[in-house]
Amino acid sequence: RDPGLMKLLPIIVLVVFAFKGLFGWSSTYLMHWVGQSVIADLRYQLYRRIINLPLTFHDRTHSGILISRITNDVNLMQGAVSSAVTGIVKDTFSAIGLVFLIFYLDWKMAIIATVVLPVAFIPVWKIGRLLRKIATSSQEAIADLTVILKESLGGVRIVKGFSMEEYETEKFSNENLKFFDFNMKSVAVRAINHPLMEFLGGVGIAALLWYSGYAFSKGLTTPGTLSSFLASMMFLYEPVKRLSGVNNTIQQGAAAAIRVYDILDTPEEVKEAEGARPLPPIKESIEFSDTSFTYDGEKPVLDHINLRVKAGEILALVGGSGGGKTTIVSLIPRFYDVSGGRVLIDGTDVRDVFIRSLRDQIGVVTQEPVLFADTARNNIAYGQPEKPFEEIRQAAKRANALDFIEGLSEGFDTVIGEQGVLLSGGERQRLCIARAMLKDAPILILDEATSNLDSEAEKEVQKGLEALMAGRTTLVVAHRLSTVKNADRIVVVVDGRIVEEGTHEELMAMNGEYKKLHDLQFSAEKVD
Ligand code: ADP
Ligand code: MG
Repeated sequence: RDPGLMKLLPIIVLVVFAFKGLFGWSSTYLMHWVGQSVIADLRYQLYRRIINLPLTFHDRTHSGILISRITNDVNLMQGAVSSAVTGIVKDTFSAIGLVFLIFYLDWKMAIIATVVLPVAFIPVWKIGRLLRKIATSSQEAIADLTVILKESLGGVRIVKGFSMEEYETEKFSNENLKFFDFNMKSVAVRAINHPLMEFLGGVGIAALLWYSGYAFSKGLTTPGTLSSFLASMMFLYEPVKRLSGVNNTIQQGAAAAIRVYDILDTPEEVKEAEGARPLPPIKESIEFSDTSFTYDGEKPVLDHINLRVKAGEILALVGGSGGGKTTIVSLIPRFYDVSGGRVLIDGTDVRDVFIRSLRDQIGVVTQEPVLFADTARNNIAYGQPEKPFEEIRQAAKRANALDFIEGLSEGFDTVIGEQGVLLSGGERQRLCIARAMLKDAPILILDEATSNLDSEAEKEVQKGLEALMAGRTTLVVAHRLSTVKNADRIVVVVDGRIVEEGTHEELMAMNGEYKKLHDLQFSAEKVD
């Protein structure tokens, strides 16, 4: 009846809603900012931890599983964190406020109306626990799915070569259905929540109505109080319902969090020693002193190795497959730590120096060339992006790689594809040699660098290798004895032990293991 107020009210309503919208948007944005920041930080921590974990960890954990942890598990946690911060804060305050309100309106009715609330905690708790279990299985299923993806797409050439497309699709499909099943189970359990809460709310209202009939007749309450009471009740069940939903999301996130923290809590086995110091450039020798090693703590792989490589010497390791040659050379850059004895550089235990200063001194070329889906130039300059182009070009030239790189469509700027698939085996290997050349480390490890190549490509690569070895302390593991004849010294490794040692001529004269290996290859080459 107040015309002034009637003019003002619509404006107030507009302003209120405008502010509600503005604050609503801000609260959603800020809450999610918190959630997303937490998750982005976690993802970063997780990746950093994974890439820093020792090789022993990576040896036994499939990279597909790790990818799934960083993507799928962290995503599931994201839901929990975002809805936890938004939901819990807002809804808890709403619920507490409304509980106070109904007790203020009529405490007797309030007791009757909320008597079912504590009962609701039991199913909420049970549902949460069940969801956590389902979420674990579901995350395992998507991890398996990632493993299949990684293997079949990474090995797509072999898949096609063996006409296994159908087989891989079937495998994928099975795992996909498993994931689907777990997700539907989770949906089924989650969906119980809403009707259950509503039913419990109905029980409260029914109890209240039953009581209010009695209260009216005794004149204990008025219809006005009852209706505002009922309205508050309805409002109260909303946040309670949402909170139990939030609990479900949190439980699922917790399942993922357990898996993520499993990795974050994995200790880094190879650690910087206390009082570690930088390793000065090698002057005298690399020495294995009574060195033993086992991968699994049981089966000995290296058995009391004693070996001294003088600075500037080229030492070849030969022997049948599985003898332990790769393991021996892996101990120098501390890819693994010895189980017994020591590995010394100039008399200093490699465990007593900064890992970085140790690895900076070592160049490695392995059997499988490791290349990134990047340009030829960046692949050579990997780890040394600051090197000027002229030096990169020079390294390529000395690695016998310049001709083919300049023949690529865009020369040094050509992207060479995932794992360098757009190159031949010999070309890939020469890129890796150029990388080691650019690194210019005084110690060089060549592990079967030419074993995957045909003899034509091997000749090309060998030229690069010889340039690379010049003036460096080199350990070369080779399959073909023809490639080790020029070594200063050759050791024969069998079953984790050094059984013979000497120059090619000396070893041939010994008429032992080396001679056997030699004759075996010689007769094989003749048959070729
Ligand atoms: P080689 O290079 O002489 O062929 P390796 O050093 O690769 O021999 O292997 C020596 C032994 O250690 C083999 O019996 C092999 O099965 C085992 N081995 C190699 N690498 C691992 C690993 N990452 N985890 C467990 N065992 C391994
Ligand atoms: Mg090997």
